[in-house]
Amino acid sequence: MTLNPGIAAKIAATADHAKPGTCPRCNAPVLRARAGRIAALDVTADPTPLDLAGEILARLDGRLTWRLITTALGIQRIAWRSPSVPTADPVIADHTCPPQPIQEALL
Ligand SMILES: [Zn+2]
Repeated sequence: MTLNPGIAAKIAATADHAKPGTCPRCNAPVLRARAGRIAALDVTADPTPLDLAGEILARLDGRLTWRLITTALGIQRIAWRSPSVPTADPVIADHTCPPQPIQEALL
């Protein structure tokens, strides 16, 4: 059975597959996905996995963290991360742009 290409494109557009891109504001590499099945959320995350200390700092900074799952077919997905449940998947955090220089600080 093969899917109609239009239907396959709609499924891909609504799936939680991680798509590489760049931040339009700071040009940093990011991963984008629509995470969640029922109450989905558009996620823009930094692609670099965090260690435990990095995840704690990200959460203290108010950023959500996500599991970066790689399926058996090699497709990366971004899924909700429950901080109370240990995970073997890499953990990534929401992207935040680096602070912009303030003109007064340059003088
Ligand atoms: Zn940015």
